[in-house]
Amino acid sequence: MMSNERKRREALVYHAKPKPGKIEVRPTKKYSTQRDLSLAYSPGVAQPCLEIAKNKENVYKYTTKGNLVAVISNGTAVLGLGDIGPEASKPVMEGKGLLFKIFADIDVFDIEVDTKNVDEFVNTVKNIAPTFGGINLEDIKAPEAFEIERRLKEELDIPVMHDDQHGTAIISSAALLNALEIAEKDIREVKVVVSGAGSAAMACVSLYCSLGVKKENIVMFDVNGVLHKDRDDLAEMQKEYAVSKNYESLAEGVKNADVFLGLSVGDVLTPEMLKTMNDNPIVFAMANPVPEIDYDLAVKTRDDIIMATGRSDHPNQVNNVLGFPFIFRGALDVRATAINEEMKMAAVRALADLAKQNVPEQVNIAYGETKLNFGRDYIIPKPFDSRLLTEVPPAVAKAAMETGVAKEPIYDWRRYEEELYE
Ligand code: NAP
Ligand code: MG
Repeated sequence: MMSNERKRREALVYHAKPKPGKIEVRPTKKYSTQRDLSLAYSPGVAQPCLEIAKNKENVYKYTTKGNLVAVISNGTAVLGLGDIGPEASKPVMEGKGLLFKIFADIDVFDIEVDTKNVDEFVNTVKNIAPTFGGINLEDIKAPEAFEIERRLKEELDIPVMHDDQHGTAIISSAALLNALEIAEKDIREVKVVVSGAGSAAMACVSLYCSLGVKKENIVMFDVNGVLHKDRDDLAEMQKEYAVSKNYESLAEGVKNADVFLGLSVGDVLTPEMLKTMNDNPIVFAMANPVPEIDYDLAVKTRDDIIMATGRSDHPNQVNNVLGFPFIFRGALDVRATAINEEMKMAAVRALADLAKQNVPEQVNIAYGETKLNFGRDYIIPKPFDSRLLTEVPPAVAKAAMETGVAKEPIYDWRRYEEELYE
């Protein structure tokens, strides 16, 4: 095993050498002759300017807008590191840019904004929105993130998504549908207990409910205990899930639950609690880097468990990279004005379906597996599965068209899929 100090140095060198950072800007047109330059800049550049001035939609025809996403943060909730400020968040945002590019060929400008004020943040994003085809909000602390996203969605006509909320919700929903299928349980009947009531957890329960989980079958806990109707410290969104029954502790909530969702902190679910869950317990312990219950301990405690974590060293990693590149790809390709519930649900179903198809040999090889197969240890696709690009974006794009938010509908789906492969 590599020592922690070696890992630390390796990560720093990776970011510093051969030149600082992880992304750069490159020209996509010829630039070797005087003629090229007179087209790229003055005087030739005036022609597209005039076309766009006549009709703003032409900006999609003559500039990178349609394939450019802003990854925007104020650095207030970075990874598990907390409020480390805009500069310190930049490596994460550049990293997200790298992932958008390699998985979906989407270009990213990462934007780090120096304000914690909601109005200022919203105005900044609104003012720079003309540059972009979409906005990925990232690592912004709750509850400010809820209001920022709500307002930007309302006020902008390009897709806006806070990935920490909805990415997690989408991927874990796909995992949930498949886990329920394996456990042979009906989504309308399962009892779900949730540890955590922050950005990720609230988005997850909301999407689970859209998929069929009953609100009255959900019990949520935060650091102060159960979300109870008598509490006066709950946000609007949290009140919707407040219960009237008194639960002493998580241990009481977990009894006879079918699903445990953890988006809180490490090691809050004990083996004793896990033993009290129903048959084929579904445990998504997603606190990073230490899950709500250790994977090996959980699997040792219950041999009928279906478990997912946020970690890459165990089966069933709920990894947002399965979502955002492909969701934005689909949204951009039909020039969607939003990423709505139906588009998220389409992504959920496409991801869930993909896990049930035969796994190509390259994917087995990429993960050093002999035979990945739909089942307890494989309920969601792996990030290096090239089929994600041909399965998820078309599903999202179709949902955008069906819900009337696609400004540039696709008609020839076969050709679209071919273009995705290029
Ligand atoms: P967040 O908005 O800060 O929410 C954290 C929530 O956990 C809050 O509701 C907090 O309660 C609660 N909490 C803290 N200590 C607790 C305890 N001892 N018992 C029960 N609840 C407790 O953070 P987030 O963005 O939702 O992320 C939460 C966790 O999920 C993090 O570990 C994050 O890394 C992980 N996560 C994983 C994935 C993934 O695997 N794909 C995706 C997103 C998030 P208070 O508000 O009362 O303090
Ligand atoms: Mg994030």
